[in-house]
Amino acid sequence: MRHRFYHPNGLSRGPTILDGTEAHHLTHVLRARVGDLVDLFDGAGSEGEARVVELQRRQVRLELLTVRSVERESRYRLTIAVALPKGPRQGWLVEKLVELGVDRIVPLRTTRGVAQPDDNALNRLQRTVIESCKQSGRNRLMTFDRPMRLAELAQAIDPATARWLAHPTTTASQWSHDAPSEPSQQSVDWTLGPGTNGAACVAIGPEGGFTDDEVRDAVDAGWQVVSLGPRLLRIETAAVACAAHWCLLHEGRAWITDSRT
Ligand code: SAM
Repeated sequence: MRHRFYHPNGLSRGPTILDGTEAHHLTHVLRARVGDLVDLFDGAGSEGEARVVELQRRQVRLELLTVRSVERESRYRLTIAVALPKGPRQGWLVEKLVELGVDRIVPLRTTRGVAQPDDNALNRLQRTVIESCKQSGRNRLMTFDRPMRLAELAQAIDPATARWLAHPTTTASQWSHDAPSEPSQQSVDWTLGPGTNGAACVAIGPEGGFTDDEVRDAVDAGWQVVSLGPRLLRIETAAVACAAHWCLLHEGRAWITDSRT
């Protein structure tokens, strides 16, 4: 597969210029030469093939040979609202959510959250989104909303969106509207299906978990509390598990290989 570069200013056939980090990567890291072919994508659904025409210190002149619209997005949009973990775990989380096709991330401000997202962190993560799109072949950038509290998100979100709040099993049953009576039925049965607008949102709490008040407010605002199983998952594991479940449920295909043939 050819190297891909992000060209945010729209793609149209003919001469075009790559600059900034992308030009640096092509010139100084990959040591491209005149005549090399590369792929460009615009983050808005289009990609194309380009030939290197001239390499300068800070920019690369290219001839864009083809442009086409190629959709590799999920038919149903999934938002992950998450209290970001600390340090490098943030980058890992964002990389995996891009690969799995998550539509957008809402960084959650929570009572027990330790890593409150600032502008620097969000700028760094935006770069991770681009790198992960380059690697995974995604032509649309996953977007970041401004950081907000769960209560704000509940107000902002389209009511036709299916909404789940992940909360560990031992506490999930007490929040369920139809709480199971048998211990064997303790985990809440859930299927990540889209809402009537084709979208869903899953909220993942911080290391210390959501507070009772946060959960109660979310339930009152129409969120369904769900369990992800009997083990306690780290923030990024919980988010990636939900995105992977969604991705396979709505986009996966079974490959059946008969070894006798
Ligand atoms: N001690 C915290 C608690 O009891 O909520 C654990 C928080 S966990 C490290 C971080 C977040 O991941 C949780 O707030 C929840 O959203 C999600 N999570 C982790 N394991 C889960 C599980 N088994 N079921 C549902 N949500 C889970």
